[in-house]
Amino acid sequence: MKSLSFSEKLLHWYDRKGRELPWRGTKDPFRIWLSEVMLQQTQVETVIPYYENWLEQFPTLESVAGSERDELLKMWEGLGYYSRCRNFHEACRLVQNKHAGEIPTEWSDFRALPGVGDYTAAAVLSIAFQQPYPVVDGNVRRVMARLMSYGEPAPKGTTLFKEQLAKWINSDRPGDFNQAMMDLGSEVCKRYTPHCSACPVAQHCHSKQEGTVGKFPVKSVKKPRPHKIVVAGIIWRGEKFLIQKRPAKGLLGGLWEFPGGKVEKGESLSDALIREIEEETGLAVAEGKKVGAINHSYTHFSITLHLYHCRPLNGIQSNKNSQFRRWISPQQRSQFAFPRATHKLFEILESEAWRTDA
Ligand code: SF4
Repeated sequence: MKSLSFSEKLLHWYDRKGRELPWRGTKDPFRIWLSEVMLQQTQVETVIPYYENWLEQFPTLESVAGSERDELLKMWEGLGYYSRCRNFHEACRLVQNKHAGEIPTEWSDFRALPGVGDYTAAAVLSIAFQQPYPVVDGNVRRVMARLMSYGEPAPKGTTLFKEQLAKWINSDRPGDFNQAMMDLGSEVCKRYTPHCSACPVAQHCHSKQEGTVGKFPVKSVKKPRPHKIVVAGIIWRGEKFLIQKRPAKGLLGGLWEFPGGKVEKGESLSDALIREIEEETGLAVAEGKKVGAINHSYTHFSITLHLYHCRPLNGIQSNKNSQFRRWISPQQRSQFAFPRATHKLFEILESEAWRTDA
């Protein structure tokens, strides 16, 4: 009797054990694309409520293309990696205007859209349009490193893994094949405890056959993450305080925050606070009571952020970039998208009923 191929075993397992997720079962390329954008660097459980909320408000590519960026960032608030949202917005507008609203099915056209890398292009074109492009994400890299006993840190093997997957991928069901590989990594070939006894492709796995599963993937040496000290001011004018919008591009682009910035070497928190606020807003301020401090981690660095109540001294706000600043009441903050670190500060302010005295 002919033995089953890698792909047949994998798909047979996927048909019985694959995860049920809100974006599975749809053929709508817009929904598949949205899910793949949200899933980059983000856990499935985190994505599900964001995906469902988004589709309630923006169910079509046309509705995204016709929306304002601030509305979308508000929907994305808390999901992180905000450039994904900005790029998706821009890409939907391009599809609407240059491709008559039809998501391109050619690799070069789709890959050329803002925010679309090899991963997203392969995922969308295989799942939505049944094109045989293999997907390599973090889960798949780990599985492939074990299957192939790959002797270097897994990210270095991406090209090799793709070549091997291109030989295995099922041309009738490329999207299911890719999703099966991702599910295998998530449900069976787990990071810390691979369940080899439940693995449908164990017979194809080099490290399993050699008894060396624990050695793969080879770990890379991680550089220590820099830590920065940051100060910010909640500047009060009556019952309202000042917020400002970050530049559109870069980390947390388009989100709102308190004015402030990095403390220079040898500089006191107070000096940095007054200097940063003056540089950013043109306002001279007097430092008041300290609200508190929070720690927060980003991908490449971490911060301790100190927040102080502040009072403007000159009462005049520079016109420089004034379209990117607002005076808002505590209640109005729900209308704006803020980074997670700012939400941590809001929690402290809320716990103290926003008191500025003493
Ligand atoms: S046999 Fe074990 S190590 Fe190999 S792919 Fe399956 S779960 Fe992963």
